[in-house]
Amino acid sequence: MIRFLSISSGSNGNCYYFTNGNTSFLIDAGIGPRRVKKALLEHQLLLEDIDFILVTHDHIDHIKALGIISDKYKKPVYATKTLKGALLHHSITREALKGNIKIIKILEPNKIEDVVVTPFIVPHDASETVGFHIEFDNKNITLVTDCGEVTHDVLKFSKKADILIFETNYDEKMLKDGPYPDFLKKRIGESHHGHLSNFAAAEAIKEIYQNRERKLDYLFLCHLSEFNNTPDLAKQTVTEALISAGANRDEVLVVPLLRGEPSKLYSF
Ligand SMILES: [Zn+2]
Ligand SMILES: [Zn+2]
Repeated sequence: MIRFLSISSGSNGNCYYFTNGNTSFLIDAGIGPRRVKKALLEHQLLLEDIDFILVTHDHIDHIKALGIISDKYKKPVYATKTLKGALLHHSITREALKGNIKIIKILEPNKIEDVVVTPFIVPHDASETVGFHIEFDNKNITLVTDCGEVTHDVLKFSKKADILIFETNYDEKMLKDGPYPDFLKKRIGESHHGHLSNFAAAEAIKEIYQNRERKLDYLFLCHLSEFNNTPDLAKQTVTEALISAGANRDEVLVVPLLRGEPSKLYSF
């Protein structure tokens, strides 16, 4: 059995936790160790007990505490080769991560403890950004975050998921009518290296559901914008897409991950 906790999701900081009781790991460390520890302790889980940290890309909301946690708790970080190079240059990680980053290969199954991780590139404006396909305790988990555009690989690895964590960053209408300056609206709304809208995610989810290779049980919606989205709107848009693709209403549990607070602890 796997347990999953979203400790924080969104531009204020991203951090996800997984364990099967034997191997435990974080994906990204964009919030401080005290908050990570506190969220885990609520469930009698310890930050000291994690085995490693995976990192998606070198934006601050994903790496702010990566160096601190890795260094303080002596935990290795796994990143792609390009990302390793970027982290060893980044002022926030370069000292603390020296000698403590291991390389994982893109589009290859990398075995780390009990986990098999396949990173795949997603288009985003960082040095290099990856999603992860993770085989862990007989479950397949796919994470797609900070993704400007849905690609062949995003669809391919999402179709293999029992548990899918997928970005729904903004609602088009809220972005258009919202408070952001034009250049930011452009970066988010028009760039193919920014973030996924609810609509783009919903279109992808339709295709993923209709061609799924596993039973898609859970769909967690991640990296929601503070100003240009609401959890209800993201959930509604994606749920409608699933129903139009032929899913029964409660067939896939759709859960928007909240920005500032940890999720429930989920068991699969
Ligand atoms: Zn981000
Ligand atoms: Zn990013």
